[in-house]
Amino acid sequence: MEQEHFNESIYNEEILEDLKKNRIDHMTYLPGMEVLRSDIMDRVVTAAKNYDCGRYTEGDVRRALAHDNRTPEDFAALLSPAALPLLEEIAQEARRETRKHFGNSVNMFTPLYIANYCANYCIYCGFNCHNKINRAKLTPDQIRLEMEAIAKTGLQEILILTGESREKSDVAYIGEACKIAREYFKVIGLEIYPMNSDEYAYLHKCGADYVTVFQETYNSDKYESLHLAGHKRIFPYRINAQERALMGGMRGVGFGALLGLDDFRKDAFATGIHAYLLQRKYPHAEIAFSCPRLRPIINNDRINPMDVHEPQLLQVVCAYRLFMPFASITVSTRECARVRDNLVNIAATKISAGVSTGIGEHSDEIKTKGDDQFEISDGRSVDEVYHALLEHELQPVMNDYVYV
Ligand code: SF4
Repeated sequence: MEQEHFNESIYNEEILEDLKKNRIDHMTYLPGMEVLRSDIMDRVVTAAKNYDCGRYTEGDVRRALAHDNRTPEDFAALLSPAALPLLEEIAQEARRETRKHFGNSVNMFTPLYIANYCANYCIYCGFNCHNKINRAKLTPDQIRLEMEAIAKTGLQEILILTGESREKSDVAYIGEACKIAREYFKVIGLEIYPMNSDEYAYLHKCGADYVTVFQETYNSDKYESLHLAGHKRIFPYRINAQERALMGGMRGVGFGALLGLDDFRKDAFATGIHAYLLQRKYPHAEIAFSCPRLRPIINNDRINPMDVHEPQLLQVVCAYRLFMPFASITVSTRECARVRDNLVNIAATKISAGVSTGIGEHSDEIKTKGDDQFEISDGRSVDEVYHALLEHELQPVMNDYVYV
């Protein structure tokens, strides 16, 4: 395992100022980045800019609830402040919709961080390249040890994460991890740096099924101010990542705004419209949503999810469900056990378990470790989450996909 140690506990204002002065244009592609002829980014960004959540009334929300197939306008109403007093009715309807399409099933998986090197400077994230944390990258043998340990818990789906450093975690390295994962798991997801469609095609060939990319915020001005360095700074390259992944043959794509970075209603609206437009363009695509709220990170405890409280989080999750009834919705360990159990009872269909966001923490044989990306709120084991689902009369599902 490669490893770097830091003992310093600082949040470097000097570096921040320097980066702010030397920022590159976040709307201009860098050499080597694939440019798509796609109008999806413009349509999503325009829709989000024009979304005026204050103009919706209780009547609009009730009309949206009454519809069988909900339009973007219905979705906008369901996300508006006017919908909050109707949250109980909205949750009941979301629950009916979830049970209609998914029965009682809830998919289980775990994320596996194989590296925490990152070349980006996202000021809200513990992995950012200037944050002084212990960095590590697993060797293929260590990846195998981690996967063996996870597979023993009974899980059959894994989400591989790397941090976003092309230099430290190149496409071949991630491909090797996918090949090893294929020996232990039925479903393999990736949450890695955005890449070109031919690279996604390669990783699909190595065994990857789906790709999740968090846009964080769809407000390009805000995005620019939060992503000060690295490839992630290039807004259009990130926003088109899901489309390139589908062009590369991935079966599914995941979407998520980091709720609390900016106006969460606009960001949730943009996330839904982004998924909706891609679903129309690629009808075969399996669509998934994540609903992460900001979490505190090492060396910066000032970071918090602003005005996204539990009712607002529930509102967003329900609005996704009612707008795109077939989409998978994941609830992460950023939320506590009580909130997660509540969300899978209503609208979420996928839950992680036995989670660590650090490096090398599943296998006892790996002695050197890398620091966590963020603090988790639900540390339950696979077994504990499994039994909690049963107690709620839900059906834990390890795998719902069969290769022929
Ligand atoms: S959010 Fe992702 S890209 Fe940004 S610093 Fe964290 S790991 Fe790196």
